[in-house]
Amino acid sequence: MAHFIVLLGPPGAGKGTQAKAISEALQIPHVSSGDIFREHLSKQTELGKLADGYIKCGQLVPDDVTIRMIGDRLKQPDCVNGALLDGFPRTLPQAEALDDFLAKMGASVNTVISLEVPAEVLVERLSGRWSCPTCGRVYHEKYNPPQQARICDNDGTPLIQRPDDQAETVRQRIEVYRSQTEPLIEYYRQKGVLVRVDGTQSIEAVKQEILTVLAGVQ
Ligand code: ADP
Ligand code: ADP
Repeated sequence: MAHFIVLLGPPGAGKGTQAKAISEALQIPHVSSGDIFREHLSKQTELGKLADGYIKCGQLVPDDVTIRMIGDRLKQPDCVNGALLDGFPRTLPQAEALDDFLAKMGASVNTVISLEVPAEVLVERLSGRWSCPTCGRVYHEKYNPPQQARICDNDGTPLIQRPDDQAETVRQRIEVYRSQTEPLIEYYRQKGVLVRVDGTQSIEAVKQEILTVLAGVQ
């Protein structure tokens, strides 16, 4: 049976950090809408240039563009057994489009992990976030530092800070999460697939809790 897992949570909740372990444990690809947009941006594609205008000011990229992009990604052969969706869906129309898309494949969203972290913690997490522009690995200067300051452990690339992680944009993104994404918690609760996880625990404790949850629902 295919496994489609959604990682839901505000910016900085730890979605990207947890994604690797989950995708390895379930042997399904990690599909991050933010990473795909940033890849388009680095290649200066039309989609990348369009998305950049929204990302810069902490707004969501329009649904039609985002839904098409994720639909194309989920049609790739590596998603036949499922995927771990990180950062998608973020609006009700996106969630409905995902349901329709999966229904056509005879699949559905199996589990939604809602990573819950209060706003004041998010700001501190994002202001200390450093990521690798090559492999996408995520670090934190205090909570998850690389072995060598500002260098990726995995491939030696100098780490970067995302322009949209500055305090002003972070506040905007948290606001957008509240108004547009948080209603998905109720949407998935009603479908009986929601699992809430306390994202303020240590990275390792969150990982163990998620893996235990997923082992139970397989
Ligand atoms: P974070 O992991 O910090 O929540 P992401 O990397 O997922 O951030 O997203 C960065 C930005 O990319 C968002 O602020 C938004 O502008 C855009 N984006 C990512 N996913 C979506 C989506 N599903 N719908 C619309 N915009 C998105
Ligand atoms: P998201 O993808 O949800 O935006 P990230 O996984 O990029 O969030 O994490 C945001 C920042 O918080 C990163 O710098 C990461 O190292 C750090 N972080 C993630 N999970 C935890 C945790 N449980 N405790 C402390 N810091 C964390």
